[in-house]
Amino acid sequence: MINNQTDKGVLFIISAPSGAGKTTLCRYVRERFTDMVYSISYTTRALRPGDVEGADYYFITKDEFERGILNSQWAEWAEVHGNYYGTSATFLDRILNKGGKVLLDIDVQGSQQILKCHPQAVTIFIMPPSLDELRSRLQNRASDSPEIIAKRIKNAILEMEMRHQYRHIIVNDRLNDAVERLLSVIERYYTDTISVFPR
Ligand code: ADP
Ligand code: 5GP
Repeated sequence: MINNQTDKGVLFIISAPSGAGKTTLCRYVRERFTDMVYSISYTTRALRPGDVEGADYYFITKDEFERGILNSQWAEWAEVHGNYYGTSATFLDRILNKGGKVLLDIDVQGSQQILKCHPQAVTIFIMPPSLDELRSRLQNRASDSPEIIAKRIKNAILEMEMRHQYRHIIVNDRLNDAVERLLSVIERYYTDTISVFPR
């Protein structure tokens, strides 16, 4: 894995409790910053309605994922809500070595691992306005069973306690406001002047 000192590109990490609106917000980021490369994670979770293989995730088996752990295939990996999720190390190194901008949508455990090798990564945490609103978004999304929603809410409380490890915290209350704030945070780093922004 490459060291941050040799990173030519810029790494953006976005984390949020499930249902806070990260996928929705990342869609705007990808539309605005068209040269930003979105890292497609590998996961062992089952496809949800609307999920597209190779666009949202690469869906693989538990055996394949665990083989990837043994082969150091992951730049970071974590077990989230009972499933494995991981970022390809080869992919990340290739884009950063070329001087590209990469967007990682990963959980707080993954973010901590990436920061060890890429301490200058721009970390952004998306918060829901409240736990009640988070629950209602998960219910309205209608993609998870009540048991899975309960698991995600429980996990959300733990994840939100870690938000201060992130450089930027954005509350996704009114969508338009959150989009505007997120795009303007990214815009600030979207030049060669990243070093002027201290952690
Ligand atoms: P995540 O990727 O963080 O799990 P999603 O982007 O899938 O979350 O959003 C969860 C649900 O909440 C979706 O149905 C989405 O349309 C909705 N949503 C996202 N942002 C907002 C917002 N600001 N206000 C109301 N609903 C929202
Ligand atoms: P979902 O199943 O709702 O798509 O994602 C569940 C959680 O897994 C989210 O918090 C998401 O950020 C996280 N996640 C997705 N891909 C990765 C990854 O490659 N690594 C890690 N550590 N977390 C990931």
